[in-house]
Amino acid sequence: MFDLVIIGAGPAGYTGAIRASQLGLKVAIIEKRKTLGGTCLNVGCIPSKALLESSEHYVQSLHEFDSHGIEVSSVKLNLEKMMARKNKIVSDLTGGVQFLMKKNKIETFYGFGKIKSKNEVEVKLENGSTETLETKNVMIASGSVHNILPGVEIDEQFIVSSTGALDLPNVPEKMIIIGGGYIGLELGSVWQRLGSEVTVVEFSNKIAGTMDSQIGKALHRSLEKQGLKFILEAKVTKAIVDKNNKVSVTIESVKDGKIEQVSVDTVLVATGRRPYSEGLGLENLNIEKDKRGCVVVNNHLQTSVTNIYAVGDLIDGPMLAHKAEEEGVAVAEHIAGLPSHVNYLAVPGVIYTWPEVASVGYTEEQLKEKNIPYNAGKFPFSANARAKALGMTEGQVKILAHKESDLILGVHIIGPRASDMIAEAVIAMEFGASSEDIARSFHAHPTLSEVMREAALDVDKRARQM
Ligand code: FAD
Repeated sequence: MFDLVIIGAGPAGYTGAIRASQLGLKVAIIEKRKTLGGTCLNVGCIPSKALLESSEHYVQSLHEFDSHGIEVSSVKLNLEKMMARKNKIVSDLTGGVQFLMKKNKIETFYGFGKIKSKNEVEVKLENGSTETLETKNVMIASGSVHNILPGVEIDEQFIVSSTGALDLPNVPEKMIIIGGGYIGLELGSVWQRLGSEVTVVEFSNKIAGTMDSQIGKALHRSLEKQGLKFILEAKVTKAIVDKNNKVSVTIESVKDGKIEQVSVDTVLVATGRRPYSEGLGLENLNIEKDKRGCVVVNNHLQTSVTNIYAVGDLIDGPMLAHKAEEEGVAVAEHIAGLPSHVNYLAVPGVIYTWPEVASVGYTEEQLKEKNIPYNAGKFPFSANARAKALGMTEGQVKILAHKESDLILGVHIIGPRASDMIAEAVIAMEFGASSEDIARSFHAHPTLSEVMREAALDVDKRARQM
């Protein structure tokens, strides 16, 4: 009898498994892929970041080394090698998760998991045989899959999902990205940097819709300057591969219904993801789902059957690896009888474009909507010594703090290494810090982090380095 059987070995599942094992629980994990690590390691966060890094180096060598006094005579793209590097990073990391399962004595089953009863999980193993695992608790961590779009059939060759877009064998001459969310913008950036003419078609009137709108506009301007094209308030109603292996795409304006027909080499469907719970047998146990297909859970992440928990992309909330990980840990700790809590107000979100965008907490729009009084402090990277030395001066940090208490309510960054800088804001919010706390803390000189400090000083209009 296991204490915990986990279905799905993504960030939620494998992190929860390790924590449960550390707490002395007997744990099994089931994964239907041939490798562990879920969407994140196999076809998500990691391969996309590997390609973003490589393509950034390519662009820098083409256009930016010169300003450092480095003359490069012939820069040539070797896409095969770039992809091989990305694949090696993925296999190193998925192998690392396998090692961690062994090290923590977690029994790993490669096969499809299905919940047979409250205390039984059936695994259809790769060799076709079936095994039933008896368990006191179940954690469903089956993640998500990409959305489908009517009239646009994904073949992963010409019309691709993010998975296909991470593995294109050639740089498409022309590419349409359907959806201006973070996946579309990141992968669009990769291929645009490598030479593709990329157009993003977005249904709403702005890209990256959930982000603070001032920061969103700055990102839009910056990406446009780099060469990405945007068609806003428009939808792709049809995409068909013709006999010349070109994709004929029909784009309809949401405003006036005007139709445009374009021909491209590749279409990426990046219209979001949906929770994946097919074949798990949830219906037999009357486990409740909401309209979007998210499994409904309480504060302890328990489903309507209390010894069955659900975590990660499968439940409500931002579909992010670090959110999934924290939920996996919270479940393990709850089962072990420890206090467990996930602070959803402090989940950072990052877009790994150039410049990067990172945020945590409320946006200005949300604060206005909620009638929460606030002061805003802003500071640009252009006035920061380290950013100048790096030659990366685009962007700013914005801190939103409560007008009376000065409690930090939100931090929004667009600029170099925003993804790393946001950690300071997350910790500040976790500790209930005020902008004054950041303003009075040492920040090493010269570092990008000084922009955070200056933004905190600007909340009280006393920034110095301008
Ligand atoms: P998953 O990682 O999806 O793992 C679920 C696992 O369960 C899968 O391996 C699946 O095969 C397995 N499974 C499902 N059903 C069964 C079953 N019945 N039996 C056995 N196994 C099963 N997030 C970030 O935080 N940062 C990023 O930079 C980022 N970049 C991304 C880029 C892309 C292109 C994509 C697609 C996603 C990205 N994400 C990013 C999102 C991130 O990948 C997900 O939020 C995260 O993987 C969710 O973790 P999870 O454990 O809930 O699910």
